Amino acid sequence: MKYRELRRCDNLKVSEISLGCEGFIGKTKEEYKNMLDRAMELGVNFIDMYTSNPEFRDNMGYSIKNKRDKIILQGHIGSSWEKGQYLRTRNPEKTKFAFEDQLKRLNTDYIDIGMIHYVDSVDDFNNVFNGEIIKYCIKLKEKGIIRAIGLSSHNPVVAKNAVETGYIDVLMFSVNPAYDMQPPNENVDELWNPENYKNGLVNINPERMELYELCERNNVSIDVMKAFGGGDMLNANLSPFGVAFNEYQCIEYCLTRPGVVSVMAGCHSINEIEKLALYYNSSKEEKDYSLVLSKMEKFKFFGNCMYCGHCAPCSVGINVADVNKYVNLSIAQGEVLETISDHYRLLEHHAGECIECGYCEKNCPFGVEVIKKMKNATEIFGY
Ligand code: SF4
Ligand code: SF4
Repeated sequence: MKYRELRRCDNLKVSEISLGCEGFIGKTKEEYKNMLDRAMELGVNFIDMYTSNPEFRDNMGYSIKNKRDKIILQGHIGSSWEKGQYLRTRNPEKTKFAFEDQLKRLNTDYIDIGMIHYVDSVDDFNNVFNGEIIKYCIKLKEKGIIRAIGLSSHNPVVAKNAVETGYIDVLMFSVNPAYDMQPPNENVDELWNPENYKNGLVNINPERMELYELCERNNVSIDVMKAFGGGDMLNANLSPFGVAFNEYQCIEYCLTRPGVVSVMAGCHSINEIEKLALYYNSSKEEKDYSLVLSKMEKFKFFGNCMYCGHCAPCSVGINVADVNKYVNLSIAQGEVLETISDHYRLLEHHAGECIECGYCEKNCPFGVEVIKKMKNATEIFGY
C-alpha cells in the first residue's frame, strides 16, 4: 500500500486505496470486523462513513475497538437517520444529534474528517456556508472533535466555491473518465444520463479540470467516490463509453488527477478488497488507461496531458507527466507558487535537459506537444 498526505490535516497520511461504507451494510458485526481487519492488514487506513445507519455505526464501533488510532475516519455532517431511513439534513438540531450519535456509537471522542454531506446545488451551498452548518463544523474543529473539515459533492461549481471559502481541507468528489467529460450539473443523475453521451464528448470538462488544479494548488486533498461509476465503468454494456475499463485502470486514472490522494472503493467482500490491493502488483499495461481512452471514437481526449505516463521512459529520464502537471498548474494560477516550484525542484530531471528526441511525442496517445511543453517549463521554472 502507498500513502498520500492530507496536507491541511496535521500531515495525516491516508492509504491510496480506501474504503467506502456501502459494502458493509447488511453484514453481521463479525463479517464486518473481518472485512475491516483484512483491509487494515493490507494497509488500508481510511474509511468513509456517509451512512447514518445505526447498525452500521454500532458495527463500526465494534470493529475499530482497540485500533481507533490506526484508522482515519471520515464521518459525515448532515447525514441523519429518521424513521428507519437515511436522510440528508440541514436542520442544526438534527445535524448535531446525528453527529453526536455517530461519536457515541463508534465509541470515540473524535472523527478525523468531518465531511459536510452531499452539497450539489448552489442554493444548498449558500445555505450551508451562510448558515449554521459551517459554524457547527468550525466549532467542532476548534474543539478538536474533528481534525479537518470536508465537503462531499458531485458538482464542480459547488465544490470549487467551497474550496475557495478556505474552510475546506478535504473534498470528497466523484471522479471517473466519464463523469470528467460532463459539464457541471446540480442533478447527479444527469452524469449518467445516456442522452448526455449521445453526441460524443471532447476532453475533460474545463470546470472539473479547474477544480482539480485548484485543490492541488490550495493543498485541499480529494478523496474519490464513484471511481468505478457504481461498477458501470467495468462493464462495456453499462459504461456510457461502450467500453469496459478494469479496476486498476480506474484507480490509476483517479490517482493521476491533480489533488487526488485516495480512491474510496465500496467493497462488498474480503475478496473484493484483496483484488483491489493487487493494484500494486499489477503491470504497467494493466493499469494503463490511456489506450482505452485514446481508442474511443465518439469520445475524444486530445491535445491535453492526461498525466497517464504512457510516454515514459523519456530518453533522459524526465518525468513528463509531472513536468506537464507543474506547468499546467502554474499557467492556471498565473504565477509560480512556491510549493509548485519546490515540487519541480525535487524532480530528478528537469525540462531543460530535454534533447528533443521526440520519443515521448511518438508514444503519446493524446497528441500532446511534449517538446513545446518542456520549453514552456524551462521558461517558467528557469531550468
Ligand atoms: S504526454 Fe501524453 S503520454 Fe505523456 S503523460 Fe501526458 S498524456 Fe500521457
Ligand atoms: S523529447 Fe524530451 S521529454 Fe520527450 S523523450 Fe525526448 S528528451 Fe524526453
